[in-house]
Order: sequence, then structure tokens, then C-alpha cells
Amino acid sequence: MTDVFDRIVGQDSAVTAMRQYARNPVHAYLFSGPVGSGLHDVVITFSAALQCENHGCGLCETCRLALSELDSDVHFADRTGISWRIDELREAERVSRRRPIGGGYQIVVIEDVELTTTGASPSASALLKSLEEPPQKTIFLLTAEDLPEQLTTIISRCVEIKLKSLTEEDLEALLIRDGAIPQAARTAALAANGNLRRAQVLVRDAELAKRISQWRTIPDRLQGSTSDAAILVEELTGAIDAAIAPLQVIQDEELNALIANAKEMGQRSVANRKDIEAQFKREQRRFRIEELKFGFTALTNSYRERLTDGLVELQENTARGEHRAGSSIKAIEAVAATSRLVTLNVDEGLLLNDLMLTLMQL
Ligand SMILES: [Zn+2]
Repeated sequence: MTDVFDRIVGQDSAVTAMRQYARNPVHAYLFSGPVGSGLHDVVITFSAALQCENHGCGLCETCRLALSELDSDVHFADRTGISWRIDELREAERVSRRRPIGGGYQIVVIEDVELTTTGASPSASALLKSLEEPPQKTIFLLTAEDLPEQLTTIISRCVEIKLKSLTEEDLEALLIRDGAIPQAARTAALAANGNLRRAQVLVRDAELAKRISQWRTIPDRLQGSTSDAAILVEELTGAIDAAIAPLQVIQDEELNALIANAKEMGQRSVANRKDIEAQFKREQRRFRIEELKFGFTALTNSYRERLTDGLVELQENTARGEHRAGSSIKAIEAVAATSRLVTLNVDEGLLLNDLMLTLMQL
């Protein structure tokens, strides 16, 4: 069988479930999975399968529009801050009351629902209210990277579809299938944190190995003055800027393909070009965050090795070993705490600067 779900890799049980649900949908789904498991891609693919007359043939205009995130009946709720605000979710609810323009459903996508709030200004209950008795032709697609206690009631209103992390082997095989040389595929797969799109960008990235070592050598380079920290931060943010370049190349290629496609259909320009460009910007922001988290992982691994060395050293020189092991543990905790603060609207430079100064004092 060839259909839209062929583009999803390493999620066999989720795909089996989605193929069935596409024929017989309910009003709300919650897709959960770890960072980089491809939640966004899976939701887009499922939206195509829901809209397509043939449940996701992958060939028709309906599928094409949905896969390009250009179906006007598929609405992506827009979050501007660290957490979901009540008015943002009310807007999503308002859209959910619309009648679909096309022949399919009104689909409302709300990503990262773990970022809803409870307490004094509870956006979680606004979301819950939307999920109560939505119109017949409306389907909610929610995603969550983790499922805290506060989501229990929301989860109970949805059918849950679980994704798992993509394995490095899955990613490597896919990259090689798409023409990458094995060595580059291997390095990119290892650095992609289970995320296919990221792996596809990294495999074109000649600077990847250099970036990994830039992060890994931070502990050695943080010995001196605070100006060292500033220089490091500048290098790291510069490297992240450069890392976005291959993604921009891919996006340009995608846009050019759309332009060529529009010409072929006798249209003067690409419809929804603004939407496409906004979507590209969102993807670039997400990529920056992933790149940052990837750096934190490399840095953590480096401190883990120092921790191991410290534990070995303990047997010979107790004081030095203790210090090395103790400071490595604190460093790992500091990196983890910073990693949790990374969001769409974070000031990357400040965050990195704080982290470097903290690490320097350990
Ligand atoms: Zn189709």
C-alpha cells in the first residue's frame, strides 16, 4: 500500500492506528512522544489522511495542500509565549466552530499542550472546554512531549496515539536511501536526536563535526576570565547561525518547487506564499532550539566523561578526584536546568552567557 503514511519512519504501531482512524475519526486525538519523535510531521500527515477522500492517497491536491500545511481548513493554534494563554486557546475554540470550506473537516492543531496552565489563569480549562462537544465536522489534533498530571482530564477526552524516539539506525538508513554517503549519514543520524528533518539538514552540514567538538571542549576552555565566556557564547551563537544555512537551502528548494508547480498549473504566483514563509520562519526557530539542545547534550556528555575520570582519580588523589567529580555533577545539573529554559522566545545569548558563567565558577 502506498499512502501518505509512507513518509513516517519508525512509528509502525502509530501508523497502523492512524490508518484505521483516518477512515473512522473521533473528535480529538492526543499525539504524545519524546522530543524529536516527529510529532509535528505525524500530525500533518494525519491531517492529510483525514482530509483526503481516499484517506491519504498522497497523490491528490487535498493531500498536497495538507502536507504543505496550506489547507485552509487545518488551523494551527499560535502560541506566542512560554505557555498557552487563555485567549490563544479561545481563539482556537472559535476556529473550531467554523464550518470547513472544503469537503473534509475543520481541523484544529494545538501543539505542546503540556504548556497549558492551571491555577489562577488556567488555560488548561479553556482547552478542556473546547474539547467538550465540538461540532460534528471538527477534529482536534493535540500534541505533547510529556504528559504531566494536569493533562489527565484532557487526555481522557482524546484518543491517545503514542510515538517513540526514532532510532539512529532508522535515521541512518533513511538518509542513505535518499542518497547520503554512509559516513555523513552516520554522523548526522547520531547528532539528530531521533529527528528526521534535523537529520536531513545535518547530513548536508559540512561543519557538523566541528560544532560537536566546539560544545565538547567548553569545559577545557572555561578556565580563564569572564571574557572567555563571552567569546565562547559568541562562537556558539555564530555556529548556530551557520547551522541554519542548510535548512534555508532546503526551504529555498521547496519554495522553488512550489513556484515551478504553480507555473505548470498556469498560475502567476504561489498561493499563500506569506503563509509558507511564516511556516519556514517557525521551522527555523524550532531548528535553533533543537540545535541548542543538541549542544547541551554534547556538553553533558563531555561532563559525564569528566565525572568518570574524577571517580577514577578519587582512588589516587582523593581531594582532586572529589572536586572533579563534584563539579562535574553540578555542571551536568546546570546544563539540564538551562536546557529546560529553552523556548521559542528565549534570549539565547543571555541564556548561554549565564550558563557559561555558572560553569566557570564550579
Ligand atoms: Zn489524497
